[in-house]
Amino acid sequence: MQTFLNTIGGSAVAAKRSFESFNPATGEALGRVPVSDDAEVAAAVSAARAAQPTWAARPDAERKALLMEVAAVIHGNAPMLAEWVTREQGKPLGGLGPTEVPGSRFELWGCEVWTQVPASLDLPAEVVFEDDTRRDELVRRPYGVVAAIAPWNWPLLIAIWQIVPALRMGNTVVIKPSEYTSIGTLELVRLIAAVLPPGVINSVSGGGAVGARLVEDAGVDKILFTGSGNTGARIAEVAARRHVPVTLELGGNDAAIVLPDADPAQIAMGLFWGAFLNMGQTCACIKRLYVPRALHDATVAALKALAEAMPMGNGLEPGIAMGPIQNRMQFDKVNDLVASARAAGADIVCGGVPREGAGLFHPLTLVTGLKDGDRLVDEEQFGPVLPIIAYDSVEDAIASANRLPAGLGASVWSSDLIAARAVAERIEAGTVWINQHGMIHPMVPFGGIKGSGHGVEFGVEGLKGVTRPQVISLRK
Ligand code: NAD
Repeated sequence: MQTFLNTIGGSAVAAKRSFESFNPATGEALGRVPVSDDAEVAAAVSAARAAQPTWAARPDAERKALLMEVAAVIHGNAPMLAEWVTREQGKPLGGLGPTEVPGSRFELWGCEVWTQVPASLDLPAEVVFEDDTRRDELVRRPYGVVAAIAPWNWPLLIAIWQIVPALRMGNTVVIKPSEYTSIGTLELVRLIAAVLPPGVINSVSGGGAVGARLVEDAGVDKILFTGSGNTGARIAEVAARRHVPVTLELGGNDAAIVLPDADPAQIAMGLFWGAFLNMGQTCACIKRLYVPRALHDATVAALKALAEAMPMGNGLEPGIAMGPIQNRMQFDKVNDLVASARAAGADIVCGGVPREGAGLFHPLTLVTGLKDGDRLVDEEQFGPVLPIIAYDSVEDAIASANRLPAGLGASVWSSDLIAARAVAERIEAGTVWINQHGMIHPMVPFGGIKGSGHGVEFGVEGLKGVTRPQVISLRK
């Protein structure tokens, strides 16, 4: 079985220890992933440090051109990388057409676009004050070495979100992918590294302990973390001790509020994909749906029809819309939350019982009859289960949306855009979408508030997040 390799200082590096990565649709072993030891983590950070001053000193135009080459390499290798995403992560290959399922090919297309956009953006110096006596300019400097720690749900896309803006602004990067989905990322880093000077992009791999060593390394100047709230809190403690800035993109428990004037038949498709994209294993998925009591049954019926029509299976096969849950821990968590809903007297409208066999398949599951405070409503399920909660007044729905510690995304659904906007403004979330959900864009800042983290990615604001401001103040 092939053991995949890390890239450190432009070279492929093997480790003494490794572990197997498995396909969650079949249970088959896919390859071996190295476990980077302390010396390898230190070597990756040193390689990044050594490369950083020269990388930062290059003219902007050169860094932009090299990142455009990276985008071309991603484009050229997209079929191979998309297959790795499907084999390792489980989402179907899908397609890019308006009627096709957004799966691994969509993830690779996103990697290309989220490389091209930061490569095209500028963050010029800003004159923040000027009079007869002085001129003050705000310039943006790279932090230096960025440590990036990624999760398993959109493994390549989230890696790109972390890597490319950091490189664009003159940082160098050491990335550690999730232990559940490392192979695709190691392959992606190998390809990117072949375009860039040695040491500009490096990878290490292994479990949480390897991530912990990476963020502790004294050579790391900035941490980008996407993952769970618990790990985020641990990383924030390390960052605080070391006085290193950190961007935290953490979990969400996004509420969608359907307003009384909405047409369930018209919004069902948007709600469905808002909730079940990537089997619900998306940070900004609808995880609680609040519906006026009068629209409850029609909304549930429309969603049930869609849920039952989606073919589920091995995403490498054609025509598959839904894959497995990515890992056993997540699978058990979803089952536990469904069991807790049953115990609370909920109605399992469809799904609810996992499929027997090798793969981690759990049917799309709609649950009604729950209320705020029930575990499936209050805890992030991060899987193919959606609680639908009837509400009596819009005020109640807003209070429900805001009562949890999470604040990543939310959405409001209505044909009255003025009413929808008024509700949106009262919701505590980093993004509130109207008549869509989770529709991120490379030019539009994205990030959470409250327990969902701090700092934003994407667009010009995202570039600012991987730089430190410096004032150049001139006496006239
Ligand atoms: P996780 O926190 O378990 O793991 C994330 C990464 O952190 C992995 O690479 C892991 O090895 C590493 N890690 C674990 N312990 C560490 C430590 N002590 N120090 C450093 N690194 C450590 O999260 P996960 O289960 O992979 O991801 C799912 C979660 O991520 C969900 O809550 C989801 O909502 C969230 N998420 C958020 C966003 C966002 O943009 N806000 C995007 C995707 C996923």
